[in-house]
Amino acid sequence: MRRDKSKPVTLKTPDREDREGLDAAIAACRLRGAQITPLREAVLEALWFSERPLGAYDLRARLEEASGRRLAAPSIYRTLDFLCDQGVAARIESRNAYVACVRPEHDHACVFLVCEACGGAVEIENPKVEQLIGEDAKRLGFCVKHRIVEMSGLCAPCQQLT
Ligand SMILES: [Zn+2]
Ligand SMILES: [Zn+2]
Repeated sequence: MRRDKSKPVTLKTPDREDREGLDAAIAACRLRGAQITPLREAVLEALWFSERPLGAYDLRARLEEASGRRLAAPSIYRTLDFLCDQGVAARIESRNAYVACVRPEHDHACVFLVCEACGGAVEIENPKVEQLIGEDAKRLGFCVKHRIVEMSGLCAPCQQLT
């Protein structure tokens, strides 16, 4: 297949319709020996199927509505921390919100394009960017723990509105 050079080939729009990626994320955690409790699974599922990154309070409200029971805020935060540590979710600092990683089953730097207008976030995966950042860090003797890059701006549909 010939590819159109004018389009970024590494752009991945998450296909949130199917559960395959979600199941892969859960399997990846289990493979590392992490315990997936019902709450952890429910939180990851809510992030996976969300149309945009969710703040902890939005997330809690959604889960409470779905389950019909009250959830303590600290346990939501602990669960989010766990999912981020596992690399299956990421925190979008600029929006104080959380998003499920698109390719959780393999180790990579998450690069997010975050729309300032609608709050949507698309994850792109570009090995070149990752390599460059990695090389610079290595040169400085820096040990990288979290590899999350955020770029803010306007998504294509929102640009049409302005
Ligand atoms: Zn990712
Ligand atoms: Zn937008």
